Amino acid sequence: MGFFDTLGETLASTSKVVGSKTKEVAGSTKLCLQISQEETKLKKAYEALGEAYFKNHESDMPEPYAVYAADIRECAARLDSLTKDKQILKNQKQCTSCGAWMPNEDRFCGKCGAENDILAKEAESGDGETPEDSEV
Ligand SMILES: [Zn+2]
Repeated sequence: MGFFDTLGETLASTSKVVGSKTKEVAGSTKLCLQISQEETKLKKAYEALGEAYFKNHESDMPEPYAVYAADIRECAARLDSLTKDKQILKNQKQCTSCGAWMPNEDRFCGKCGAENDILAKEAESGDGETPEDSEV
């Protein structure tokens, strides 16, 4: 067997190895993608289950889950407070009737049409109750 025959065989077997490695990488990438998609679906399913359970048992939450429910309530309250702060920074006030946000200077709500006092913001902040008071 001559040098070129040996070289040809070596090249052929090398390209087979490279080919199978490429297939391996492609297969692995595809599997990673499928795993990631299934993990996302699983998380969303758990999330949906948790949300549905929370809504159905908010008032009668059994003991092992009560701690999660408390976390959800605290988080929702902070989110509500932060959203209010953000809207107030943008010179918005909340409609006293439907809760929609509207410019401070508007008298009538653009969503429900209710009349809102222009000084509603000052009156609201003067009632002494802030969400921070409930924090322990
Ligand atoms: Zn309104």
